Amino acid sequence: MRYIMALDQGTTSSRCILFDREGNVATSVQREFRQYYPKPGYVEHDAEEIWESQLTVAREAMSRLGISYREIAAIGITNQRETTIVWDRKTGRAICPAIVWQCRRTADYCTQLEEAGLTEFFRERTGLVIDPYFSGTKLRWIFDHVEGAYERACRGELAFGTVDSWLIYRLTGGKVHATDYTNASRTMLYNIHTLDWDADILEKLDIPRAVLPEVRPSSGCFGESDPALFGGPIPITGAAGDQHAALFGQVCFRPGDVKNTYGTGGFMLMNTGEKPIESKQGLLTTIAWGFDGKVTYALEGSVFVAGAAIQWLRDELRLIDSAPESEYYATQVESTGGVYVVPAFTGLGAPYWDAYARGAILGITRGTNRNHIIRATLESIVYQTEDVLRAMRSDAALPVGSLRADGGASANNFLMQFQSDISDTRVLRPTCIETTALGAAYLAGLAVGYYRDLEELSLVWRCDREFRPEMTGEQRSHLLDGWHTAVHRIL
Ligand code: ADP
Repeated sequence: MRYIMALDQGTTSSRCILFDREGNVATSVQREFRQYYPKPGYVEHDAEEIWESQLTVAREAMSRLGISYREIAAIGITNQRETTIVWDRKTGRAICPAIVWQCRRTADYCTQLEEAGLTEFFRERTGLVIDPYFSGTKLRWIFDHVEGAYERACRGELAFGTVDSWLIYRLTGGKVHATDYTNASRTMLYNIHTLDWDADILEKLDIPRAVLPEVRPSSGCFGESDPALFGGPIPITGAAGDQHAALFGQVCFRPGDVKNTYGTGGFMLMNTGEKPIESKQGLLTTIAWGFDGKVTYALEGSVFVAGAAIQWLRDELRLIDSAPESEYYATQVESTGGVYVVPAFTGLGAPYWDAYARGAILGITRGTNRNHIIRATLESIVYQTEDVLRAMRSDAALPVGSLRADGGASANNFLMQFQSDISDTRVLRPTCIETTALGAAYLAGLAVGYYRDLEELSLVWRCDREFRPEMTGEQRSHLLDGWHTAVHRIL
């Protein structure tokens, strides 16, 4: 029996899942690590803690199954995206804390770039909007604030990488400095059309090329793990950012295939095939993966507050004791009775893009009770998701066959059925909702022949439950009109 080791390096924890050939979870080990908030708006990780927690869970997973390195066919990595690490090539140690994707420290610098009229410049080349999320301005910040960093980078003494790159470096004992297309496409430095670091962007941000990793396909050879780590070498053959890996893990291999992750926030990606599509509605264009000598592109849109709205019902309003309870209360009423919750706690993203909008509960009457509010909150996740899906449909002009769901809140059957009704689309929930880790395992497994081809993977993917639209067109447009009226009141 052989396994694929998926290393899932997330924002708050590092996990290792060992998958068998049928895509079943043989074992899963998770360890949280510290979040550092040194100033308002700043978020940091300790790169050593990321590495140590990841190594620990990998070793523990192996010892739980009592297996040696020989029984692991390959390692696949998936990671929190955009988080920026700079390390010393000689010592292998980070020169400063990792700047986490959530960190807003480069907001002013980003505003300057926008004011210099560079929005289109960046969008055309990178597919991204100018935002502190992405690695490029974080790297510039390190050069501006860590003494000697810029000069040392110019001399080739330092290496930059996103978390995948950092793990590959440490796993290979410092032999390989590489990343994959998906992670490169989140740096704001990478040209997604020419598939190279963009010389004009590097010049504008004054980033020396010597600091950048080599960019490789998401499925292919990244090197072998240092034999000292796991008792012998294991090939590292897959790497992709978390959302991209989830798209792959949901076997969204054809143009028009869409997955949505219902986590704290919502993340939707649509496979758009071999041509990048420029969004007219503020969606991001990104590389879905590089596989088999080709690059596949995707459109990405996110909902800032999805499952977090359910946490709000639980922790702030105290209307429920646990997130799963929301389903029971929501189904105690036939409808919200005209109540809409707009959970714009941190503004609204695509397609509205209003950073200053704030949340509201609208349409309350004397008869409104907590069930209505709970239901309206769940429905708001669906409406926001539908807004992003519509933007994608119109940008991509591709038919959407179905929506594949994952993430913690996808366990909610009411939510899934309402999504299917409002989007007039089948919603498919897989048996394995660990799609991010699964995607990394698939990418790694394909490269070593553990899995034969995409077709085999499509057969491995199993549906737990399919939700079919049951709502009339009239009902649907009535509800959506109400939602859009509610949103426009708060913009
Ligand atoms: P993340 O990876 O972003 O931390 P998860 O995928 O673990 O998120 O999902 C957790 C989120 O899903 C939480 O915000 C929680 O409120 C929500 N959630 C979990 N279970 C349910 C449920 N049954 N119904 C609705 N929301 C849920």
